[in-house]
Amino acid sequence: MCNIDFGRDIEIKINEPLSKHSSFRIGGGAKYALFPKNREELIFAVNTCIQRHKKFLIVGNASNLLFDDNGFDGVVIFTTKMDNTEYIHKNDGVYIKAECGKSLTELASEVGKKHSLQGLEFAYGIPGTVGGAVYMNAGAYGGQMSDVVVETEAYDFKAQRVVTVTGEEHKFSYRHSLFGETPGLIVLSTTVKLSLGDAEEIFAKMNKTMTSRKEKQPLELPNAGSTFKRPGENIFVGKLIEDAGLKGYSVGGAQISEKHAGFTVNRGGATSSDVRSVIEHTKAVVLEKYGVLLESEIIYIPY
Ligand SMILES: Cc1cc2nc3c(=O)[nH]c(=O)nc-3n(C[C@H](O)[C@H](O)[C@H](O)COP(=O)(O)OP(=O)(O)OC[C@H]3O[C@@H](n4cnc5c(N)ncnc54)[C@H](O)[C@@H]3O)c2cc1C
Repeated sequence: MCNIDFGRDIEIKINEPLSKHSSFRIGGGAKYALFPKNREELIFAVNTCIQRHKKFLIVGNASNLLFDDNGFDGVVIFTTKMDNTEYIHKNDGVYIKAECGKSLTELASEVGKKHSLQGLEFAYGIPGTVGGAVYMNAGAYGGQMSDVVVETEAYDFKAQRVVTVTGEEHKFSYRHSLFGETPGLIVLSTTVKLSLGDAEEIFAKMNKTMTSRKEKQPLELPNAGSTFKRPGENIFVGKLIEDAGLKGYSVGGAQISEKHAGFTVNRGGATSSDVRSVIEHTKAVVLEKYGVLLESEIIYIPY
């Protein structure tokens, strides 16, 4: 029973296990989990949290997060039901406006396979949402969100108004954006600009990246993607960790993947503290052996 009015039609779950939603399959219960279907529901819910002094967190597909074993003592707002797309044809290309909860892989597949639009092939297989991908400036295989994003609509919850962010204002850099440095901004939708391409070529490119992911990444075990950010242009974290003799290193159920040392996997029953111990140990060993300070790409969400 929920005695807070988060909005009449919004879907609410109480004490919802976050492990059910996270790609790591780790995390205790969220006091409240909300699933808005559109921006009005999301904005109403956010404003309610602010008025009621409730801690809240915006989550997409939770594919880059490590939730605490105790869960989250507040409101987790999942965007995954906000997944509309709109196509706008102009002389210089096709503009696709996607809501924040749209699956990035579905979007890449839809634009590439159905509409023969090129530019998002790199994103095929990244298991996040559009909002999470803009926040992280997600990228792979030589492409990143900053290559295609032209405009983002965001809710500035401090000013309580919708703002439009364009071009350079996104402040994109490697796994970084304006949204990562400005906690008051929630991505509502993003517009990407793509161009017409050859359907077969697009399809082949997407298949190639997916095959490579399946071959190299430990997709058979729960994980949250690369554990660490790349520390420099030509430094490969997986190789560094492997050379440090840490491949397979484990604490409890958390392990540095035997398949790809750049990933930490949940072999079953891993806790958030197991994962954090693996991360801290790896950082310490790599710093000592190579003088390289690793920065976690996985975002830890405390209780
Ligand atoms: C198997 C696997 C492979 C992966 N491969 C890649 C890869 O190749 N490249 C890559 O870059 N990443 C990769 N990732 C990591 C992850 O998928 C990306 O970072 C993705 O962009 C995160 O999106 P999400 O919706 O899951 O975000 P979440 O994990 O839900 O959230 C990430 C951050 O974004 C914020 N956020 C989410 N939505 C919004 C919003 N609407 N407004 C404001 N803030 C928001 C959250 O608060 C959080 O701080 C991989 C992960 C896995 C599990």
